[in-house]
Amino acid sequence: MSETKERGSMTLAIRILIGMVIGIIVGYFLQGTPEIATTYIAPLGTIFLNLIKMIIVPMVFSSLVVGVAGMEDVTKLGRIGAKTFIYFFFTTAIAIVIGLLLGNILNVGGGFTLDTAGLAYEAKEAPPFIQTMINIIPSNPLNAIVSGDMLQIIVFALIFGIGLLIIGEKGQIVFQIFDSIAEAMYAITAGIMKLAPIGIFGLMTPVIAQNGPAVLLPLMKLIGVIYLASIVHIVVIYGASVKFLSKVSPIEFGKKAFTAWATAFTTSSSSGTLPVTMQSAETLDIPQPIASFVLPLGATINMDGTAIYQGVCALFIAQVYGLNLDLGQQMTIVLTATLASVGTAGVPGAGMIMLAMVLQGVGLPVEGIALVAGVDRILDMIRTSLNVLGDLSCALYISRTESNIDSLKTDTK
Ligand code: ASP
Repeated sequence: MSETKERGSMTLAIRILIGMVIGIIVGYFLQGTPEIATTYIAPLGTIFLNLIKMIIVPMVFSSLVVGVAGMEDVTKLGRIGAKTFIYFFFTTAIAIVIGLLLGNILNVGGGFTLDTAGLAYEAKEAPPFIQTMINIIPSNPLNAIVSGDMLQIIVFALIFGIGLLIIGEKGQIVFQIFDSIAEAMYAITAGIMKLAPIGIFGLMTPVIAQNGPAVLLPLMKLIGVIYLASIVHIVVIYGASVKFLSKVSPIEFGKKAFTAWATAFTTSSSSGTLPVTMQSAETLDIPQPIASFVLPLGATINMDGTAIYQGVCALFIAQVYGLNLDLGQQMTIVLTATLASVGTAGVPGAGMIMLAMVLQGVGLPVEGIALVAGVDRILDMIRTSLNVLGDLSCALYISRTESNIDSLKTDTK
């Protein structure tokens, strides 16, 4: 990677940080009149978000096809696939355990008085896990692409990529076409990211203007525990993974992942952040086939932040309702929240809908979601940024442990 590129990405990170801070300050002063923020400032964020969303489907599809077809052979694909899934699964389960431990130690629901009058949450049906499994096979792949169903798109891209891998030389033309499409998407991303500081300012201001102290204060403890558990997970688990498994300095990782982190934090969408995550992967020297394989998958199924959120919220709701969760029930939460986080789409608010599944799993009142719904955006920001860091740390791990990455077909630049 060239010096210029590193410098360039640092400047962008700083500009994004400035956009964020200005957004917080302006949002703070607009708390009395949040309409100004939502009417005049929010559109800047929405335009930025739409620009990013515009490239998600072509990017996920083309980059996954290239990622899979760029592997040497099906055995290699199988090995990398297995490693990726194991990494995703373990880090997610550990995330929930950290969340539950801190939630128990700090007594997350303690001191919160239940106001039953305010409980009017209409629980949306969380789809049963088996249904999610059935639905991931697209009976019509074009339909999946048109409706933007990420899990289905991923499954078709994986199968299509395997097809290309099997036919070898004959697949070269199509491979190159998808490679060009993916490259074009990365180039467009670089252009869109120049607008990120303004877009992030537009996303941040209304969040702060609308979530003043009145909304936040009663739930400060819940927010604190979730943020703390998330920070512990980043520092301890990702830190250890980056340092010991990938042999990269965690500080360097943090710097290079910052743009992706900040975009995830402000957009609350892993899928929306994907183009930026791909860019961060490049600055971390993660070979393109690996980034193309791990990151789109991760953006859809690997959600450590969502898992922490679901674990802590389940505990919070139980404590507020005066229900005791024994160890067995907490183990059930680890399992259901791991599955629920896999089924959670990488879009804002999706984790809250899937929380219903976790609550039902241990017989907790689903209406309890109403207690946490008011601050969902604030919680979504941290959980999404964690989700994205988890994907990047996994891609880094795969890239650094697959020693013969040079033999991957695609030019890694
Ligand atoms: N917003 C999260 C994401 O995109 C999903 C969630 O709501 O937990 O990663």
